Amino acid sequence: MTEYNPYEEMLSTLDLAASKLNLEESDYNFLRYPERELKVSCPVRMDDGTIKVFEGYRVQHCSVRGPCKGGIRFHHDVNMDEVKALAAWMSLKCAVVNIPYGGGKGGIQVDPTQLSLNEIRNLTRRYTAGILPLIGPEKDIPAPDVNTNAQVMGWIMDTYSMFMGYSVPGVVTGKPLDIGGSLGRPEATGRGVMLTGREVLKKLDRSYPGTKVAIQGYGNVGRVAATLMYEEGCKITAIGDVSCSLYCEDGFDIEDVNAYWESNKGLLKGYQAQGVQEITGFELLTADVDLLVPAALENTITTDVAKALKATVIVEGANGPTTSEADKILAERGIMVVPDILANAGGVIVSYFEWVQNIQSLMWDINEVNKNLERILLRAFDEVWEARTTYDCRFRTAAYIVAMKRLVEAHNIRGVFP
Ligand code: NAD
Repeated sequence: MTEYNPYEEMLSTLDLAASKLNLEESDYNFLRYPERELKVSCPVRMDDGTIKVFEGYRVQHCSVRGPCKGGIRFHHDVNMDEVKALAAWMSLKCAVVNIPYGGGKGGIQVDPTQLSLNEIRNLTRRYTAGILPLIGPEKDIPAPDVNTNAQVMGWIMDTYSMFMGYSVPGVVTGKPLDIGGSLGRPEATGRGVMLTGREVLKKLDRSYPGTKVAIQGYGNVGRVAATLMYEEGCKITAIGDVSCSLYCEDGFDIEDVNAYWESNKGLLKGYQAQGVQEITGFELLTADVDLLVPAALENTITTDVAKALKATVIVEGANGPTTSEADKILAERGIMVVPDILANAGGVIVSYFEWVQNIQSLMWDINEVNKNLERILLRAFDEVWEARTTYDCRFRTAAYIVAMKRLVEAHNIRGVFP
């Protein structure tokens, strides 16, 4: 088996969509090469006085439609190819929902569970100093991703502001409310997953109440999606995170799970209730459910999983959870996949609202945030749904088609410098 490379996976879908659009290689090869790739070393004085050096990355994939936008990930598997793929998916995601951003992404190769809060703060600040020449509200705007949160964004904002000599809230999104964050941003990605899941079932003449759901990943995206789907009447029968996978035939009491999760450092391990049993990660992904939400990392739905899974609908909360080989199997099996660049775009849409509020020094109320999120996301959903029919292709290819059309158009209008 060839080794999984997320950037190659992204390129293969790009080529597929380009062939449907009858694009020549020279029409879209600007999307094959990230505009900028930066690797920084981040020395950190640890609590015991020793100095450790961590590697960090920031990639700007494409800025033809606006400043680059994309999260920062802290994970021991972070590497340049992963960050490049994640940055490219951000260019496509912003284009598919038609917000005026390009794509970027960053990360540090680190297992944050091994660091104290003090060490994580020092690492964040040093990394920010390293990528400082690239970021800024008009250049490149980071946000949270795996293992980063509002607090980390607050430290990035503060570090950047210290260098500039004045407060620059618009340099990051997903910040705490007190320093310019937006209402609704922490829940936005999970809300988008709930909304796109509801919409796809509606198109298939099925309704949410009673839908059996499995969710892999119980963090910012998975936990919120679980909570909102539960509130819509879905039966969440399988959940899991890095610590364990759990099954409950009658459906979890998600409020009870969330109370446990809060008190257990954000992990599901050890959760007990009537009818709950521990299962393997593979059993979670292939559980007898109607709808599956992968909301952890890439390369989760592999060919083995694709052959065995029982869900008829997949809503990709994570970025790149399905390999291209697995995607073909799912298509052959008639399984509907709402692709990542659409399904998890809720986060970047509300990040855009946060940036707009920062620039205008305005504060929107939660109704305005959620109403506009739903409007933009469902408009994009309809456009992609229509492209599926027009181009007679899979949902994912249709999303790439809608996005690529906009990116190629912008590129053509701007022309090639010099
Ligand atoms: P998070 O760190 O809040 O949560 C990640 C979850 O995945 C945790 O519950 C973790 O335990 C679990 N996990 C990690 N490794 C796992 C494994 N091997 N098996 C099972 N579970 C595992 O991260 P997040 O922000 O929820 O991001 C999850 C995914 O969603 C990522 O692919 C991310 O790029 C994507 N995403 C996030 C946002 C956002 O706004 N945070 C937006 C769009 C897409």
